[in-house]
Amino acid sequence: HAKKQGKNRYFWFEASMENELRFRNELELGIRRGIIEDEFVPYYEQQVDLETGELAGFEMLARWESPQLGLVSPEVFIPITEEIGMIAELSEKLMDRAFKDAQDWDEAITLSVNISPVQLRDPWFAQKLLKQLVASNFPPHRLEIEITESCLHENVGMVRSTITSLRNQGVKISLDDFGTGYSSLEQLRSLPFDRLKIDRSFVRELRGSEGCSKIVDAIISLGRGLGLPITAEGIESEEILATLKDMGNLKGQGFLYGEPETAEEVCARLKKIGRLSKASEPAAEPVP
Ligand code: C2E
Ligand code: MG
Ligand code: MG
Ligand code: MG
Repeated sequence: HAKKQGKNRYFWFEASMENELRFRNELELGIRRGIIEDEFVPYYEQQVDLETGELAGFEMLARWESPQLGLVSPEVFIPITEEIGMIAELSEKLMDRAFKDAQDWDEAITLSVNISPVQLRDPWFAQKLLKQLVASNFPPHRLEIEITESCLHENVGMVRSTITSLRNQGVKISLDDFGTGYSSLEQLRSLPFDRLKIDRSFVRELRGSEGCSKIVDAIISLGRGLGLPITAEGIESEEILATLKDMGNLKGQGFLYGEPETAEEVCARLKKIGRLSKASEPAAEPVP
């Protein structure tokens, strides 16, 4: 590589590109292997009725327990998993586990699951999900799927028919990270959503920035106007919680209520508050 001698800049540039590429290839390989080896696990974040403080549901958030890298964030592995065409397979595996986990919870506790825009491009998505629900014996009305605005400017006709098929069976549809994407008010009006989730970037700044509190106010009135219930995500402090309570009847989630937990931790929490499902409650009389 004699020509690199006089062009050190390029040499360094190429070297770092090469490292990046190698790291990316290793990640990709690790993800493929991790899916087969079941290294991906569901964590759960509480969703609470802000008015009563009562636990309403859990959002499943994927984590990768990588033997090499430790606990890896979905922000790292979801985009790559989408790119290598394995997101549907990963999502199905995670949902299988989540449907089992949620059988231990009180029947009134819902399960929310994030669905990638890549999955929604599959015209058979609704059929596959409904089939999986039947196979897992999980009641569709306990499931909420969360989709982001980026799903909406692809094939609105297909998204509408997918949403409609799922809703006809009782599955609820939430529009996640609302306010960060490009959905038009027209799409919001014409697609049958069940809930809006205000992105945490607005909630976090609620008390620091007047702009953000106006945006949150506007989203809440918009939701009300459309008859949609609202969840605020990213509640980190009592002050923010108090502000949100003043703004109306909302659900919320965030680190104030605790960080996402494993299935075991969730069960321990539910046991303490007496909200395990009847079936998973230990029998009152030991079997003779
Ligand atoms: P999201 O659906 O908007 O989930 C909320 C994210 O905000 C989660 O990050 C959660 O841990 C974090 N969060 C919640 N409350 C707070 C808070 O009070 N403060 C702060 N700073 N953060 C908070 P996480 O788990 O890293 O997930 C990131 C994103 O990855 C999710 O955003 C979701 O879009 C995506 N994701 C997670 N699991 C899955 C999955 O199974 N499938 C797909 N397609 N996407 C997933
Ligand atoms: Mg979400
Ligand atoms: Mg969100
Ligand atoms: Mg968000």
